[in-house]
Amino acid sequence: MNDRRCPNCGAVLKAGTNECEYCGTDWTPSPPMTEKIERTSGKAIASFGFSFVGFLLLSEKNNLVPPVLGLVGMILGIISLKINSKAKSKIAGEGLSLVGTILGIVTLLLSFVMIIMNYRGYRLW
Ligand SMILES: [Zn+2]
Repeated sequence: MNDRRCPNCGAVLKAGTNECEYCGTDWTPSPPMTEKIERTSGKAIASFGFSFVGFLLLSEKNNLVPPVLGLVGMILGIISLKINSKAKSKIAGEGLSLVGTILGIVTLLLSFVMIIMNYRGYRLW
């Protein structure tokens, strides 16, 4: 029980070691950078929040709020992802900023689709 696996090759790590005997990667945890984590996850949460609210408001016809929220969510997500890649370590909120970016793009695209559909007299839902 309590087997830890190598994130690189998936081999089981021996108890008490952080180095993988198969691929030689050292998985010793690096010291946390609290200040950067807090700033990054704040942007990540904001990114997800803007995109998600924009996505929820998509059902309202010809509303310019969803694309604006989607755009803000996408920009915040990209900024957050750039900070993460500069920090060179896995930071909490990396997944959230990715979700925020993708959801922002989806919201933006769906808004345009809905505006075009509505203009042509179709109803998406
Ligand atoms: Zn390995």
